[in-house]
Amino acid sequence: MFSLTVLGSGSAGNCSLISTGQCRLLVDAGFSARQIARRLESVGVSPESLDGILITHEHGDHVAGLEIFCRRFCIPIYANPLTAETLQRGSLADFPSWNLFATGAVFSVKNIEIQSFYVPHDAVDPTAFVFTADEGSIGFLTDLGYAPKLALERVRQVDTLVVETNHDERMLQEDTKRPWSVKQRILSRHGHLSNDAAAKLVASIAGHRLRRVVLGHLSRDCNRADLALRTMERFGIRGIELFCAEQNNVSPTFVVSGALPSMVSEEINPVRSQGDHHQRTQGTFDLGWQVG
Ligand SMILES: [Zn+2]
Ligand SMILES: [Zn+2]
Repeated sequence: MFSLTVLGSGSAGNCSLISTGQCRLLVDAGFSARQIARRLESVGVSPESLDGILITHEHGDHVAGLEIFCRRFCIPIYANPLTAETLQRGSLADFPSWNLFATGAVFSVKNIEIQSFYVPHDAVDPTAFVFTADEGSIGFLTDLGYAPKLALERVRQVDTLVVETNHDERMLQEDTKRPWSVKQRILSRHGHLSNDAAAKLVASIAGHRLRRVVLGHLSRDCNRADLALRTMERFGIRGIELFCAEQNNVSPTFVVSGALPSMVSEEINPVRSQGDHHQRTQGTFDLGWQVG
């Protein structure tokens, strides 16, 4: 069974689990090691059983718990060379299990094939991923100022897409906590996708294989789940299962099946369907701390 579980997503931390019967991978480790372990255990996965952690980029909300988690449970890290070099300048210099991939490369871990590709964001070498198993594929597109043509091409064939809906443009403009320079950075071509930008992106790839979209990386102060979901509907995105991931809740486990993706997932793990904003998640976790 090929599946995705978002262990938590938002501007204060990001971590997701991709799994098949044979292979379990994390994408990012943006919570404390203890939080990651607790969230994994809440979905019946022991941290020791992971085959690797793939890192999108070196920002704190993606790597906060990486060092302690990997050392404690001896999990290999997968990253591109520049991201690895940046992380190795810190306390991961002597970590023994690094697996480097060039951005743009295709590689496999057990029975999951991973395609990495560049996305524009203010990090040393930010990357996004498409994971493919026998049953289909899952795209991961967070932390990007805009989607270049190549990135769009990569996610056009996925069944399930995790996409960043970082902010509502009006809420960001009206926010009084952030100085103008920070707002400029977020809105720039190396910043983050707004609800509108993400909805345009999804609308442009809908109609191919896409069956499910999971919205993620919402700003705590400048966005709300209902706004992000409504924006998708305003852009005419229909017939696609929509779900908004949360910072403090583990998402349902979304199953990708080549045959009948939505039906299978609804039987195993009921999630909201189009027009029904009720979200059933797998448990609440207080962060108890914040990352920048
Ligand atoms: Zn980032
Ligand atoms: Zn981030």
